[in-house]
Amino acid sequence: MLTKIIYVVIDTVAIVDIIIIINALHGVGAAYAKWLKRTLVAAIVAIIANILIASSFNAFGAEIAYCVYFASIDWILYFLAGFCLLYTGHDKVLKRVSLPVAVMMAADSFLIFFNPLFKWHFTIYENTATPGVVFYQTAFDQLYYLHLTIDYTVLVVALLFIILKIIKSYDMYRVKYLIILSVLLLVIAMNLAYITLSLVLDASVIFYAVAGTLIYFCTEIFVPRRLMNISVGRAVDDMCEGLILFDISNNCIYANAFARSRFGVNIETFDLSYEPAASVLAALNEEGSQFGEKPYERVLGSVTEHYSVRYTSLLDKRGRSIGSYFLIQDRTEEVFYLHEIEDARINADKANQSKSTFLANMSHEIRTPLNSVLGMNEMILRSTDDPLLKEYAGSIKTSGEMLLGLINDILDFSKIEAGRMELIETDYDLHHLLNDCYQFFEQPASAKDLYLHINCDRSIPRRFTGDMVHIRQVLTNVISNAVKYTKEGGVTLKISTRQIGTDRTELVAEISDTGDGISEADIPYLFDAFKRINEKENASIQGTGLGLAITHELVTMMHGSIYVDSTPGAGSTFTIMIPQKIADPTPAGELVISKTYDEPSYKESFRAPDARILIVDDVPLNLKVACALLRKTLVQIDTATSGDEAISVCAYRKYDVILLDHRMPKKDGIETFREISEKGLNYRTPVVMLTANALNGVDEEYRRLGFAGYLSKPIDIHALEALLIDLLPKEKVELTAIL
Ligand code: ADP
Repeated sequence: MLTKIIYVVIDTVAIVDIIIIINALHGVGAAYAKWLKRTLVAAIVAIIANILIASSFNAFGAEIAYCVYFASIDWILYFLAGFCLLYTGHDKVLKRVSLPVAVMMAADSFLIFFNPLFKWHFTIYENTATPGVVFYQTAFDQLYYLHLTIDYTVLVVALLFIILKIIKSYDMYRVKYLIILSVLLLVIAMNLAYITLSLVLDASVIFYAVAGTLIYFCTEIFVPRRLMNISVGRAVDDMCEGLILFDISNNCIYANAFARSRFGVNIETFDLSYEPAASVLAALNEEGSQFGEKPYERVLGSVTEHYSVRYTSLLDKRGRSIGSYFLIQDRTEEVFYLHEIEDARINADKANQSKSTFLANMSHEIRTPLNSVLGMNEMILRSTDDPLLKEYAGSIKTSGEMLLGLINDILDFSKIEAGRMELIETDYDLHHLLNDCYQFFEQPASAKDLYLHINCDRSIPRRFTGDMVHIRQVLTNVISNAVKYTKEGGVTLKISTRQIGTDRTELVAEISDTGDGISEADIPYLFDAFKRINEKENASIQGTGLGLAITHELVTMMHGSIYVDSTPGAGSTFTIMIPQKIADPTPAGELVISKTYDEPSYKESFRAPDARILIVDDVPLNLKVACALLRKTLVQIDTATSGDEAISVCAYRKYDVILLDHRMPKKDGIETFREISEKGLNYRTPVVMLTANALNGVDEEYRRLGFAGYLSKPIDIHALEALLIDLLPKEKVELTAIL
């Protein structure tokens, strides 16, 4: 009796176990999980049948339970074979055989249920070997062996597929197939033992639960976990970073290949006193931290290796420390490239510096002779009334100024490139600015028989705040192009504004011409530096291809925009939009243009016969030009052609102003100025730097050195006179004209 009870209890536990596994299989999406589930459901039926057999009290009840049991075995094996086929990747085979085999199994299990009538499969007899307990057992007949053959054929086929898979698969995967195979073989062995030894109960049924559990573990948990562990282990070992693990007692428990090969870490002997751990811990300790990241450097022969080492605590799920690890990253290459980049940057800076110096030199070298040319030319213009001579000298002036414009463009461009172009905001009157533009281009336009119209919206504010100098430069660049590239018709400048706030507005300038226009393909390159379009056709037109590049940069710096709309053959319209502050919102009204612009005949703006100045320049011609330009002011002028000469004249004569050239052989202007100041000569005499160095920033530089002012060559007589009026003692200056 006890045997029966134990058997029933074990069977019940097995059912519970199977139900748990079926439940766990719910989460598995793979198709084989469905077949495994079906197998287990059939197993539950078989186990229940077994419980009924064990607890039957009459032969008929036992016979029916046996029928259910044998039929369920059909389905267990059918589903198990299906699982094996799917799990070993033989989906196609399963698709083909599943229906005929199911029909065969259905026929077989159907036939079994006729046993109570015909006894084709088995007969029931009572086993009373154990006193007081009756076991109903079966004596098998022919059809049972047919049923057995069908079942075993299905099983053997499934086993063959598994064996095939074992042969073909890699070590790691072979394990799971081996486990499945051994489980199946065990089921077969138990079943065969039951049949051949005529055991009272079939223990293999209980084993279905164990089999299901094992298969579940090996497919879903054991193998994937083992696979993951192996893969992670390998990946960590192959890492390009070093990993050294310590347990809670700071014993080294793992070091990957990188750590072993780079730092010779030996797990047996390595501890926190070895590098790089020791240095990193010391550095962390210094800043009062226990964990963190620190750089680590190591010199090996001529090579310096750079590492970044992170020391981190290893925590369990509940946040308790269970160890620590070092993660070592090789940054040698990165540091090398950073150095390279830094070197490249320094070289680029040097190259840029050389370029600036070259530009300064070039500007100096061109401006110096140009100073003489324009100065002497000015003398001719002043001293002759001969119209032909005036015309010739006028042409020299125009060309000279054009050359100066070119140098200025190149300097401007280099300033913009070096990020040294500054915006200086002032209040200005737009009507004045437009008048200036008109004056500039009226002559060149009428010389080509072109009209030049300026239409200005009457309602635009009277005064704005912005960088007037650069706005003028932008407008003149574009108008100059419009005049240059138009053969007939003319140029119209239209000015309007667009309110963008209470005290801000957008100045909109549209410059339209009736020139040849620009093809659509060329427009994207229009604002590129040194890019000229239609070079062949425009060969006779002077230009460098810098004007629009500078214009674009200046407009962008002023947070504005510029775009062009052009119809080849019909003309172009450049639209420039620049935000400006409104200084005076009163409407400016009608724009009055002074149409006729005659070069005003020169008239000195002051006379100072009692003033004495010293001009120092190593080029005698420049001295001659300066003296000639200032002749009418009656200022007394001494000259010196070197720094030393200037110092010696300063020793015995007091000047009201000293004009000092910068670049001179031997002592340059700055050294001369320094010596004059140090020797206390000409105490408090303002010294003005007179130079062809027109690079940006020199003004402040000279002022910082103590110069009272700065004048660029070629000398602009108006600027020179204005500076002298400002610096000469007031009592010695007699103004003759309003500047
Ligand atoms: P450039 O010194 O050659 O005038 P820019 O940068 O000012 O240089 O202009 C670049 C090119 O754009 C010019 O070479 C010219 O071909 C073209 N371009 C500029 N403005 C006009 C215009 N109004 N009409 C036709 N072509 C123009």
